[in-house]
Amino acid sequence: MSLCHPDVGNVSCGACCGLFNLKLQPKEFKTLLLERTSEFQTTVNFEVRHSFPIFRKERETKEAHIPKKDDMTYNCPFLGYVDPTKQRIGCMIHPIFTGDPKSQNFSFYGASICQAYDCKNKESILADLWESLFVEMAKDSVEYSFLSADHIFVSALEKFFQFVNISMDRLFQEFRLEVMDLFRTRLLTSAEKNLTSFEINYDNFPDLNALEDYFTKELGEYWKDWREGMIKKNPG
Ligand code: SF4
Ligand code: SF4
Repeated sequence: MSLCHPDVGNVSCGACCGLFNLKLQPKEFKTLLLERTSEFQTTVNFEVRHSFPIFRKERETKEAHIPKKDDMTYNCPFLGYVDPTKQRIGCMIHPIFTGDPKSQNFSFYGASICQAYDCKNKESILADLWESLFVEMAKDSVEYSFLSADHIFVSALEKFFQFVNISMDRLFQEFRLEVMDLFRTRLLTSAEKNLTSFEINYDNFPDLNALEDYFTKELGEYWKDWREGMIKKNPG
C-alpha cells in the first residue's frame, strides 16, 4: 500500500498524528493506544454522530496529564489499533472504517488535512525500499513509526552514502545489515524525540563535515565506529 500501511508484515505508522509528542516510553505508547482502541470500540457508534466528539473530549481530558514535548503539537486521540490483532496502528475514524468521506472532520485537523498529508519519507522516490527495510527490522508499529517518521535521519544517511560514492542500490543490498545496525542504535533514543515527520530540516547537510556533526550529535561515539566499519568495507 504505502509507507504508512505496508502490504506485508504487521506494522504501520501513525507518527504524523502526534503520538510521539507525548513524553512516554515505547511500552507506554502501546498501553495508551490499546486504551484508546478499547474505549473507541465500546463507546463510538458510527451511526451516532455525537459519539465521535464525545470520545474525543473524553480522551483529551484523560490524556491531558501526560507531559508533552511541544505544547503546540496536537495529539489526536483517534489514532489507535485498526486491525483485529491490535498490531497495526492507524486512524480509527478513517473513511474506510466509517464509510463517511468526511468522518475525520471530527478531529482537530479535519478530513482535508488528514487525507492530504504525506511526509517526506512517504514522498521519497526511495519510499518502497525504506518501507521494506523498516518492515524487516521493526518489532512493532511503535518502532516502525519511529523509523518511518525520521526523515531528517534518513535524508542524512542517504547524503552520507552519496558523499562516499556508494549507490542507493548498494545501500539497500550490500550494506543492508550495516544500515539496520545504525537504525537499531537510533531506536535506542527515538522515544526521546518528538518525531512528527513534519520537523523542518534546517541543515541541508552540504558536506561530510555537516553530516559528521549531525550523526555525532545524534548517535555519539557509535557513529565513529560505524563509519570506520563502513570505510573498511568500502575502502574505494
Ligand atoms: S509519518 Fe509519514 S509514513 Fe507515517 S503515517 Fe504519517 S505520512 Fe505515513
Ligand atoms: S483523525 Fe487525522 S490526525 Fe486523527 S488519527 Fe485520524 S488521520 Fe490522524
